[in-house]
Amino acid sequence: MYLDKLRLDGRVAVVTGGGQGIGAACARALGEAGARVVVAELMPERHEACVADLRALGIEAEGLTLDVTRSAAVDEAATGIVDRLGRVDILVNNAGVAKSDVPAEETSDEHWRFHMDVNLDGVFWCCRAFGRPMLDRGQGAIVNIGSMSGFIVNKPQPQSFYNASKAAVHHLTKSLAAEWGRRGVRVNAVAPTYIETPLTAFGIEENPDMYATWLEMTPMGRVGQPHEIASVVHFLASDAASLMTGAIVLADGGYTCW
Ligand code: NDP
Repeated sequence: MYLDKLRLDGRVAVVTGGGQGIGAACARALGEAGARVVVAELMPERHEACVADLRALGIEAEGLTLDVTRSAAVDEAATGIVDRLGRVDILVNNAGVAKSDVPAEETSDEHWRFHMDVNLDGVFWCCRAFGRPMLDRGQGAIVNIGSMSGFIVNKPQPQSFYNASKAAVHHLTKSLAAEWGRRGVRVNAVAPTYIETPLTAFGIEENPDMYATWLEMTPMGRVGQPHEIASVVHFLASDAASLMTGAIVLADGGYTCW
């Protein structure tokens, strides 16, 4: 009975930025639980490779080329998926960017806009577009990938644009949860610590001093792996989290304890 709540058979899940890193792990987790997965990615070659991996595992998957910053394209994608597959049950807003280590006083307009466009606006466009058919059906679960950076200020790399964008994602999550709570659509977020993906290579692989600081500041003394976020996303997307909405779930190795 309890394990059944984690099954996602017959459900359609969309994962943005799902071609690599945390998104690819989410696609696999949801697919293993029985969902049919749509991997929405900027670069076609990336979703194609990811979909091939998922299919090799026996998961029903398909790719979609999508730039989440283009609201009209996001609307079209949502309509197209509902027309073809009949429904969208789960949306994971994972697409995000972090070109960190730029001091606030040296941050250009373009740099600021780039992060807000993808990390905040893109999340809203997707929530709005995929939320509409969920509201029509009175059923759906959205999981936004926030960050511990929405709670704390990272050290030592300056990244005000990223931190602000993720704090906004957390409050957007609560705002939508409040608006849609009585209408069957749950909206939650996961706030990860540093996870080993291409996004954090600038620290983990290229800057030993920075990486040492990250580990020093983390009670568990390590960074996370994508599957450790995917399992939280899977839980939040499933009926096991049926009473949860507006939650920002930290998966941070204890980072925010200090
Ligand atoms: P990756 O860079 O490994 O993967 C993100 C994917 O999203 C990439 O394939 C990227 O494509 C794609 N993407 C970027 N912009 C867009 C767009 N406009 N439309 C569609 N897809 C896009 O990142 P992670 O897996 O590490 O991060 C995933 C999410 O988790 C992000 O929201 C990130 O902020 C968040 N997060 C990550 C942490 C970490 O330590 N890794 C910690 C906390 C939160 P491309 O490479 O071509 O840009």
